[in-house]
Amino acid sequence: MTELAYLADEPAGYTRQFSARVVALPPGGVVLDRTFFYPVGGGQPADHGSLALRNGVPYPVVDVTKSGTSAVHRVRRPTSAPFPWKAGDEVEGMIDWDRRYRHMRLHTGQHLLSALIFQRTGIRTQEATMSGAGGTIDLERPIPPGTRPEALASEANSILREGRRVSIHHVSREAWEKNPSPRSGLVSLPRQVDPVRIIEIAGLDACPCGGTHVRSTLEVGDLSLDPAVPIALGAVRMPFRLVDAMRPTRSG
Ligand SMILES: [Zn+2]
Repeated sequence: MTELAYLADEPAGYTRQFSARVVALPPGGVVLDRTFFYPVGGGQPADHGSLALRNGVPYPVVDVTKSGTSAVHRVRRPTSAPFPWKAGDEVEGMIDWDRRYRHMRLHTGQHLLSALIFQRTGIRTQEATMSGAGGTIDLERPIPPGTRPEALASEANSILREGRRVSIHHVSREAWEKNPSPRSGLVSLPRQVDPVRIIEIAGLDACPCGGTHVRSTLEVGDLSLDPAVPIALGAVRMPFRLVDAMRPTRSG
């Protein structure tokens, strides 16, 4: 079992370097007792980075996946050298922060856009993806013709620039079921999820999510939105992008 340590609170989401113990070494992979690497899921790509024994050679982490209750870090091993690690070893993890921070900005921006679209039109988000400098939001039905993407983006950017706090709360499943967010009813939470991890954008949105997010909407920067295109069963896909994908990252 791997403790997914990035889930705990806001500072945990900004941890780039950590130590952990090896608990298993499946072929091509490393399972740790805890990790701050995000495993692919919920539309957010896996973190990249490296793992190394103390003062040892760093091995690139090229993918992280969940397998049952474990997170498996796929490492690129040089074929010529034997892999020297064993269960019980302490390793240092280093996360590729430029990549991860872009995902945090995109994921937070996506929550805000989904919340705004719901407030203005009553249309809910089915799912979302993010990678590189942009992402997609799948909406249950088309946005009314009078609601232009540029106007939505402009409104979203005004809110982002207010620097609203983005916080994490863990509430019991029972409490969440009694008072869920209206926009989140489209995709039911897996039965085993308890407590529920809520990402809240102050004064705007509260949504269950296991992804990583920034602490202030100011860190997202401006977003642009493209017109939605039809996908399946009446749904539409709306692409969005970070206007300045390469802005400097902030320290924890
Ligand atoms: Zn999220």
